[in-house]
Amino acid sequence: MMILYSLRPEQQERMSVFTSRAFMTTSTVVITLNLVLVVDPAYFPDEIAEIRQFVESHLEEHQLYLLFTHSDWDHIAGFPLFPEAVIVASQAFLDNPDRTQQIDLLRDFDAHNQILRPYPLAYPSVGMAIREEREELSLGGNRLILFQAKGHTEDGLFALLDPPGLFLAGDYLSDIEIPYVFHSSAAYERTMLLASAILEEFPVRLLVPGHGHPTTDVGEMKRRVESSLRYLRSLREGVRRADEEAIERVLSETGFGSDFETAHRENAQRIEQELRSEAP
Ligand SMILES: [Zn+2]
Repeated sequence: MMILYSLRPEQQERMSVFTSRAFMTTSTVVITLNLVLVVDPAYFPDEIAEIRQFVESHLEEHQLYLLFTHSDWDHIAGFPLFPEAVIVASQAFLDNPDRTQQIDLLRDFDAHNQILRPYPLAYPSVGMAIREEREELSLGGNRLILFQAKGHTEDGLFALLDPPGLFLAGDYLSDIEIPYVFHSSAAYERTMLLASAILEEFPVRLLVPGHGHPTTDVGEMKRRVESSLRYLRSLREGVRRADEEAIERVLSETGFGSDFETAHRENAQRIEQELRSEAP
């Protein structure tokens, strides 16, 4: 499924969000007069081929940039189909010690679902590695501002294309899943405060999460930030008091059902470890 957003029709900018049949993973494609930017092309071979075909005719005139929001396997599957792209990702993405694990997870999911991928899997090599907390790139006359966004993973980035106010959130600010804390709950909270600051500083007109529905409604964007913060803070409080009922209630209050039982349990365990290592 693809939805086209024309935030500035007079500029002939087109933003297309492709949504995969796997986990509603989103792949964003920005085409301007000077630029082609593809973000996390995913997931099934036919879906990635469709994205490739969509940008193909623009590649003679324009440099193609491929941005990875983080290195989770479901976001990097399309890398080999864009060999001419300049890759943008965080330095931590480049240094990821678990890179072979991500490729293994990809291979396992493919095997389990009998997906025949007509190309060999590979971990992306990075052309432009983002090291600073905040870095600005000029891509074809558009400003792309990148922010380190840790907590879900250690190598996440937020990206803001300004103009036109496109906020690429990676695996944060989803409306279909609970926060997944693979790295650190404290870092995740700081990243949510950063998201809030970005919404204050920039006129964000379209937010695209890594999974779920994009939104053009700033109230909805803020609501997603608040709901992640509420989740993390109440879960930490429940874990601190070792209150099993409270911990369960945190999940039911998200409005997401038992599909997230395991993820929720793992978040609670991670927070428990964090609290234990903080204790004097
Ligand atoms: Zn993901």
